[in-house]
Amino acid sequence: MARADTLARAKTLDRPELAYLVRFRAADGTTDMELTWAELARDTVWVTEGLRGHGLAAGQRALLNNSGFEGFWGHAVIGALRELKVTYGIAEAMGWDHRRTAVFHRELNPHAVIGLSAETLEGLAGAADIAEMFRSTSVVLARPAALPVLRGLGVPAALITAVGPALALECPERRGGHVNAAEWRIGERDGELFVAAGEQRTSSLPETPLGIAGRVVTGRCACGGEDPRVLLAEADPSLSPRS
Ligand SMILES: [Zn+2]
Repeated sequence: MARADTLARAKTLDRPELAYLVRFRAADGTTDMELTWAELARDTVWVTEGLRGHGLAAGQRALLNNSGFEGFWGHAVIGALRELKVTYGIAEAMGWDHRRTAVFHRELNPHAVIGLSAETLEGLAGAADIAEMFRSTSVVLARPAALPVLRGLGVPAALITAVGPALALECPERRGGHVNAAEWRIGERDGELFVAAGEQRTSSLPETPLGIAGRVVTGRCACGGEDPRVLLAEADPSLSPRS
């Protein structure tokens, strides 16, 4: 009973608005930005719609590759999976944890793998046929450097990546990673991306160059979404200004 009392009392306490301090690499060095619980809740709603667009639904299973310091978007993805009633397992996105990815992939037989990294693929390549492994996975959302590898193996993966403090999530049309226009203003200058807090964002961020080579496409996507899309040179080397 003491526990129930404690929980009831805890509920009446004020919670701080700040959920995370998001630290990201910008063109001019490391930058910090606040993330409130209200913003995180809105990000979760947006990611939920994005994953629903990939057909994720109740009763499916997913594997999330995410690192602790990426909690600012990992938390939104986890919240979305819970909302969609998708059972999930989490493995580190760093290469040293590739065996956990292999085990989860075998045991969970996931409908979706979210956040697959080039380092994980490299680690798996020695011990598994990664083409066979991921061609049998319905939805593969991969990081920029993993995309050319997967596409080269015939795996129709889509992009998921942080762009500074924002998340880019590609829809099944695979025409660039959507960024939530209500929360962020994303653009390009001289072939590199910049980001700023959007109209709904209460935490402030002035226009910040990210030093990420890429392009931004605006206008309605074939998926019906109006959010702008980022095309990254790392994910599609043909976009690189130096190639
Ligand atoms: Zn789209």
